[in-house]
Amino acid sequence: MFALIKRLCSVPQGNSRLLAAQYKALARQIPLMYFILLINSWALAFTHMASSPVWMTVHIPLVLTIISLVRAVAWRRGWQQQPDDIEVAQALARTNRICCVVAVGFTVWALALFPYGDSYAKAHVAFYMAITVIGCIFCLMHLRSAALMTAVVVNVAFVAFFASTDNPTFIATSINVLLVTGIMLVVLQNNYRNFTGLVNAQARSEALSDENLLLANKDSLTGLPNRRWFFNCLDTCLAEAGEGERRLGVGILDLDGFKPVNDLYGHSVGDRLLAEVGARLATLLPDTVHLARLGGDEFALILPDCGDNLQVSLFAERICVELSKPYLLVDVPIQVGASMGLATFPDLARDAHELFEYADYALYQSKHHFVGHMSLFSAVHRKQLQSAVLTEQALRRADLEREFHVVFQPIVELQTGATVAFEALARWQSVELGPVPPGQFIPVAERSGMINRLTLPLLGKALQGAAAWPAPIRLSFNLSAHDCGSPEAVQAIVKLLASGVFDPSRVDLEITETATLQDLDLVQEAIATLRALGCGISLDDFGTGYSSLTHLHALALTKLKVDRSFVARLHEKPASYKIVKSLLALTQDMDLDCIFEGVETLEEAQALVALGCRFVQGYYFARPMSAGDTQSWLALDHTSVK
Ligand code: C2E
Ligand code: CA
Ligand code: CA
Repeated sequence: MFALIKRLCSVPQGNSRLLAAQYKALARQIPLMYFILLINSWALAFTHMASSPVWMTVHIPLVLTIISLVRAVAWRRGWQQQPDDIEVAQALARTNRICCVVAVGFTVWALALFPYGDSYAKAHVAFYMAITVIGCIFCLMHLRSAALMTAVVVNVAFVAFFASTDNPTFIATSINVLLVTGIMLVVLQNNYRNFTGLVNAQARSEALSDENLLLANKDSLTGLPNRRWFFNCLDTCLAEAGEGERRLGVGILDLDGFKPVNDLYGHSVGDRLLAEVGARLATLLPDTVHLARLGGDEFALILPDCGDNLQVSLFAERICVELSKPYLLVDVPIQVGASMGLATFPDLARDAHELFEYADYALYQSKHHFVGHMSLFSAVHRKQLQSAVLTEQALRRADLEREFHVVFQPIVELQTGATVAFEALARWQSVELGPVPPGQFIPVAERSGMINRLTLPLLGKALQGAAAWPAPIRLSFNLSAHDCGSPEAVQAIVKLLASGVFDPSRVDLEITETATLQDLDLVQEAIATLRALGCGISLDDFGTGYSSLTHLHALALTKLKVDRSFVARLHEKPASYKIVKSLLALTQDMDLDCIFEGVETLEEAQALVALGCRFVQGYYFARPMSAGDTQSWLALDHTSVK
């Protein structure tokens, strides 16, 4: 009982949010309470002026007025300031105490006036006390203890005083007041409960939305900030870099060979690898660098003060090297590489959009030309990108049937000089841009997702061009990564190959290593479908990508095309010589034909002869030629290398 009374009479503890809400409500209402109190009190003093001593109708009200004004002003000031939790708790506890004192003070004063007045004035005292206390309780509603104590102090005194007057009107009034007070206390209690409930619910929903905000900005797999956070953070960092005239860098990092890990070891190991990469990155980076996971095996960095080209390049390269160190997740160490694209503000990129686009382009460059390393977006890249944009626009408008054709480059048997096949190479005579080399439009078509639309007309033309060749001359045709990336695209290619224009068992389809890195399952499926049709599969540009030997085994290949970088000046470079030698041994072991590309000189051809190579392709033997020229080429007798 005592504990209950104590609880009802004291300010709630330990809920600073509730206290702050109470403080806010009271700061608005307590000045009003003093206003009512003073007006009503001066009205009572006025009706008693003639009958009562001056100290009771002027001096005491003046003292009470001063106290009230001081308190009202203090609250008014509190409303404008932002007090801390401790100040709020103190102010509420103080209000609790002062309310008691004020209630006692005004009650004693009013009751003391009672004996002086006539019947009307006496009734005024009763009316004053009953009505004023209701106003005060309303104003103190948000601090239950203060409202309760005020009600008890004033109304207990009221009922005790007026019930003992022997006057039936006053006795009836005191009964009324007792009832009204009881009901008011119930209403007060309900209201207070609603108020605290509302404040607590608000606090809970705010906590929940804070948590949601945190989750919305966090990548659950790695615990790193996510893509959404990255772009928000980039905006903030850019604004700061702009003001501080600092050079800001954005890096996009992509793992090399992550897909094969997923395919080989399963997704749970893949997930753990990503988490491990995230953790390794977090320990590698200084606090000033912001790190996020963009999705998949892509991470991004913001370097708010990245220094000059050399500094930023060395930094990025070191990260690529560190990430390519083995990860101990299963019984054998897993190794993946990391390629990074970097762009800087304000020298090349001017805003967040450009920074990201340029870093992504630099990453594309790394992935295709310097896999496992970093590329820094440069003015040359910007020119290339601008031309890629023009190329893309022209490609979208191009008439694929009319503007595109294929040329054919012989693949020659080195010992005899006999042509065994032709590789079909795409040519574009754009109406808008003139001749555009495939090295320019194929990557653009791949990046913009238009390659599938291009492959079919090109394959159609290649098959047409090959139709008249005598058996067993074969046709080699380049497929892009995206051609193997969807069963629908593969089906369309199969349909065309099986259309009867050219025997599909005399067709080799060339895919690059990067294509096989995309999604091993899909590529394997595509290869199986094409092999079922009788086609051969060549792995193009071998040696430039990131394939491992296990990876090669997983693909049902028939040929390997060794990139021309190994052939160039082969006779002068012992390293290339050794690589070619071991590649030949490897292909023999794997029972694969091996074609060496880009043979340009007699010396290179002779070196390849000495190594025992069988098939070659290159300007030294023939440049790509039109379909018509292939006929006359085949009609000629090509003798072996002298
Ligand atoms: P690739 O498949 O490696 O084709 C060989 C490229 O090397 C051809 O360039 C060819 O003209 C060139 N080449 C041949 N012999 C020599 C030589 O002795 N020295 C030098 N420096 N180059 C030589 P091209 O025709 O410009 O094609 C470039 C690339 O574009 C091709 O490389 C291939 O990846 C792609 N490409 C060409 N046609 C198609 C196509 O129809 N579809 C797809 N998806 N890609 C194609
Ligand atoms: Ca090729
Ligand atoms: Ca090639």
